[in-house]
Amino acid sequence: AKALGKNRCVLYTEKFSQDLAAKLVLENELRRAFEQQELMLYYQPQIEAASGRLAGVEALIRWRKQGDVMVSPAEFIPVAEESGLIVPIGEWILRTACLQAKQWMDTGCGPLQMSVNVSPRQFIEANFVDRVASTLQQTGLPPERLVLEITEGIAIAMEDEQETAEKLRELKQLGVRISMDDFGTGYSSLGYLRRFQVDELKIAQTFIFEVPGDSEKASIVQAILAMARTLKLKVIAEGVETEEQYRFLRDEGCDWIQGYFFHKPMTSEEMSRLLTGN
Ligand code: C2E
Ligand code: CA
Ligand code: CA
Repeated sequence: AKALGKNRCVLYTEKFSQDLAAKLVLENELRRAFEQQELMLYYQPQIEAASGRLAGVEALIRWRKQGDVMVSPAEFIPVAEESGLIVPIGEWILRTACLQAKQWMDTGCGPLQMSVNVSPRQFIEANFVDRVASTLQQTGLPPERLVLEITEGIAIAMEDEQETAEKLRELKQLGVRISMDDFGTGYSSLGYLRRFQVDELKIAQTFIFEVPGDSEKASIVQAILAMARTLKLKVIAEGVETEEQYRFLRDEGCDWIQGYFFHKPMTSEEMSRLLTGN
């Protein structure tokens, strides 16, 4: 038994160093990619459910490697988080998204909200609020056009809940809106909503997939929508892929819809064409 234990230990160490090596390689590649401007933003439309109006977009990062291979953010965002690279990359994302939103605004595209994902590692930076403020100032984007998407992960990363609430309060004082992403997947979501005073919540894709067919998922979504109404929160459903899902959500009072049923994430050029109707 002892020998076996030892072997296991060796295997574990080998596996561990392989993982570590792979991570380091990816981290270095990502650093180079950022410097060489291989990162770009895609935009996915958000539709007002009742009217079908294009009301906002979510900025989603893409990594186009040389040779045109697309690397998924699900793969490199965790590495960027762990290495801290997400801080400079996140600043670039925020600036680029705000600039783009301002540009669309100036070309008379109508009121459009810009949602930007904020990683926990980025949020805990001491000067995060100042960064947001100066980005808004430099780009000229009115604060109320910007939505910061956070996850429950920020509360874990911050450790101090009081501090998290305070930081969110400062952000809201700037005039930006706060959205709770992937709502329903973590713990004590309801408590966070109240303490953090978020403006909107995004129902996690996992709940949308089997709606309305799966009656358990459907009643969870109905419960979330009822609760949001009571708390006067705006609700967005993401990952909406079918007409049935869209109709169900709209009829249940979901405010905005995002998903392949309407549009996939697209380049800024494609988005511009969509906005201007050519
Ligand atoms: P997320 O914030 O939950 O983003 C939604 C993801 O769902 C996006 O994947 C989007 O392309 C995808 N999606 C949208 N509609 C549909 C649909 O109808 N069906 C399906 N199956 N999927 C749909 P993406 O772009 O690969 O991003 C994955 C995750 O990577 C994001 O999840 C977010 O956590 C992270 N991420 C992406 N961009 C950024 C960024 O700029 N900053 C940070 N910090 N994280 C980002
Ligand atoms: Ca998001
Ligand atoms: Ca999400």
